[in-house]
Amino acid sequence: MAQSYDLIVIGAGPGGYIAAIRAAQLGMKVAVVEREHLAGICSNWGCIPTKALLRTADVMHTAQHAKDYGLTLEGSIKPDVKAIVARSRGIAARMNNGVGFLFKKNKVDIIWGEAKITKPGEIVVGKISKPVVQPQGPVPKNTLGEGTYTAKHIIVATGARPRALPGIEPEGKLIWTYFEAMKPEELPKSLLVMGSGAIGIEFASFYNAMGVDVTVVEIMSQVMPVEDAEISTFAKKQFEKQGIKIHLEAKVAKVEKGSNSITATIEKKDGSSEKITADRMISAIGVQANIENIGLEAAGVKTDRGFVVIDGYGKTNVEGIYAIGDVAGGPLLAHKAEHEAVVCVEKIAGLPNVHATDKSKIPGCTYCNPQVASVGLTEAKAKEQGRDIRVGRFSFAANGKAVALGEDQGMVKTIFDKKTGELLGAHMVGAEVTELIQGFVVAMNLETTEEDLMHTIFPHPTLSESMKESVLDAYGRVLNA
Ligand SMILES: Cc1cc2nc3c(=O)[nH]c(=O)nc-3n(C[C@H](O)[C@H](O)[C@H](O)COP(=O)(O)OP(=O)(O)OC[C@H]3O[C@@H](n4cnc5c(N)ncnc54)[C@H](O)[C@@H]3O)c2cc1C
Repeated sequence: MAQSYDLIVIGAGPGGYIAAIRAAQLGMKVAVVEREHLAGICSNWGCIPTKALLRTADVMHTAQHAKDYGLTLEGSIKPDVKAIVARSRGIAARMNNGVGFLFKKNKVDIIWGEAKITKPGEIVVGKISKPVVQPQGPVPKNTLGEGTYTAKHIIVATGARPRALPGIEPEGKLIWTYFEAMKPEELPKSLLVMGSGAIGIEFASFYNAMGVDVTVVEIMSQVMPVEDAEISTFAKKQFEKQGIKIHLEAKVAKVEKGSNSITATIEKKDGSSEKITADRMISAIGVQANIENIGLEAAGVKTDRGFVVIDGYGKTNVEGIYAIGDVAGGPLLAHKAEHEAVVCVEKIAGLPNVHATDKSKIPGCTYCNPQVASVGLTEAKAKEQGRDIRVGRFSFAANGKAVALGEDQGMVKTIFDKKTGELLGAHMVGAEVTELIQGFVVAMNLETTEEDLMHTIFPHPTLSESMKESVLDAYGRVLNA
């Protein structure tokens, strides 16, 4: 007889593993099916290993500026790419193991293989049906195997994979996805990055710091197109100062492959075109959800433009089938997947006061140099919505801590509703802003107004004082500028 559970989760990424743990905490009998690696893209090929690489870039940057801090460094600093990659892969493996430990601790069963929903309440786990997109991780110990399993509830958390442009498909040698970009065997001399979203810009930043000649091609009118235009322009200037070449309103129309290089034809909005030759190219034009071959069509689960359609609690149109994380649409971020997981499971368990996920308050962070972080509406979006707004700005150049750190290139921008004082959006660029942004996220969640923020005492000297000064500036009361 098929082994039965209260909940089966398909996919052990940040959405899936958090859903499983929360369900186990709430007393459910839970299993997770995973075909490739515990902890998903985030820990194995996304958030964590990139941050490990970018930490190396930061250390490199600081070392190169040792003289500015009164230090003499004998000899030159050189990247050892094998050691850099080994450190990053070691950190990914540690996170992967950590999820195995958490499953054991919470008595969550792991079923190893590829899951397919056969009908609501039933899944079949079999061998991987097609070549795996992402490289396999280690198979954890004590896993259940292929077979039929039943569950009262099924959560689909199958994530996403790199999207490819027809004719410019990454083959892993000359044209890379994030998988190859994460573990280069050697550093290319030159690199073309197609797409300047978070993934493209983070790799551009890393490779530039390693001494690679980097060119970024972006079809939109700004880098990091979802960010506030002013912040994006600020960041672009810094990237260019560091030597990254950036083409905006330009698209990679064609790529010709040589024996050890590519030549890309770039078409610009003004009608001109240019050929760029580089040793390697990263295709970073976004991801597509893993919705195929999991039985969604047969079960009648609705999808829209490649993503599963859900309500604010992860419910699909089919009773007993839920979806969370990347497979259920943007923003395609690990913390969004984790939050949706908790909301979905608590709703299934019938807990009172479960709030639907509010997508308007999900922060976004890019860990390039300088870092970029934001939450809420951009100035353009606020205006588009017809909001009457007040905007405040504060430069890191006037913040004592930033100057002491030697990190005075940055700014904070805040956007308020003129009538109500509601904080509508906060946008930052500069050192450690990915850590600072959470202050504004909490403020927005608590429906804070400018008054509350002005009455809040920020510690001195900290970069966070720029947040308060930006609020003060929106109301004509800035003190240090
Ligand atoms: C280079 C890069 C950097 C990133 N950096 C950040 C960052 O800094 N911050 C951030 O918030 N986000 C970042 N992301 C995005 C983040 O990784 C994703 O949003 C997150 O992993 C989504 O979680 P998930 O659980 O929905 O899916 P995933 O992490 O993709 O996990 C899905 C899992 O399901 C498994 N699976 C799929 N189909 C089946 C099946 N049929 N049967 C069994 N198992 C299956 C897969 O093997 C996978 O392990 C980054 C992504 C990339 C690529």
